[in-house]
Amino acid sequence: MKVLVPVKRVVDANVRVRVKADGSAVDIANVKLSMNPFDEISVEEAVRLKEAGVASEVVVVSCGVQACQETLRTAMATGADRGILVETDVELQPLAVAKLLKALVDKEQPQLVMLGKQAIDDDANQVGQMLAALLGWPQATFASKVSVEAGKAIVTREIDGGLETIEVDLPAVVTTDLRLNTPRYATLPNIMKAKKKPLDVVAPAALGVDIAPRLSTLNLAEPAKRAAGMRVADAADLVAKLKNVARVI
Ligand code: AMP
Repeated sequence: MKVLVPVKRVVDANVRVRVKADGSAVDIANVKLSMNPFDEISVEEAVRLKEAGVASEVVVVSCGVQACQETLRTAMATGADRGILVETDVELQPLAVAKLLKALVDKEQPQLVMLGKQAIDDDANQVGQMLAALLGWPQATFASKVSVEAGKAIVTREIDGGLETIEVDLPAVVTTDLRLNTPRYATLPNIMKAKKKPLDVVAPAALGVDIAPRLSTLNLAEPAKRAAGMRVADAADLVAKLKNVARVI
């Protein structure tokens, strides 16, 4: 069974993002970019399926600028077999990514596509669902446990107030949640080995996909700064301030 794992290059989770002065976009100049954390979890899960003898090949794919090759190499250093970069300088929106992935699925014929539940830059939480719809495949989103047996995936999903376990026929789309696993670190020998693994580069036009943006961002703004707090002498003072100053009771 082949598993396709889409990985997005995003602003590193530890970086405090800044909005450009004109409010048009997040400023990514001189900012550390890394693999989307949920995609690290997907790669880890796919590699574990391979180690368990369930998957035969793990193919990672990234859509974006040339530097996404680094993200693919990182995924290959933690166990993916090969990578595909759909290279473009155009800013990709979730529908465009889903269409590119659909074209690659048609070509690669994986039995399972394992995506992150959301990219931490746009927080869209859309690509997996859109891809499943375009393919007409079942989807299991927000997975916190995945097992594959007899042509089916059994997926435990994190839902409000608990867990839900569902069974989907393969081929299927699964999106991964935080508690599914803890991704491994790439070792130096594996980083070196990953440099030799195959990495194909294709253009969106070669996949026959129109990636023109459909949405335009009108404005981005940072959250309002928190006002300074104030000290209260005792409970009575607190109640008085809540009533007369904050006017919340
Ligand atoms: P989103 O719907 O944008 O929050 O992204 C959900 C998931 O789709 C991510 O965790 C990735 O697995 C995948 N994805 C989104 N954008 C890209 C991209 N440019 N290249 C590869 N995979 C992507």
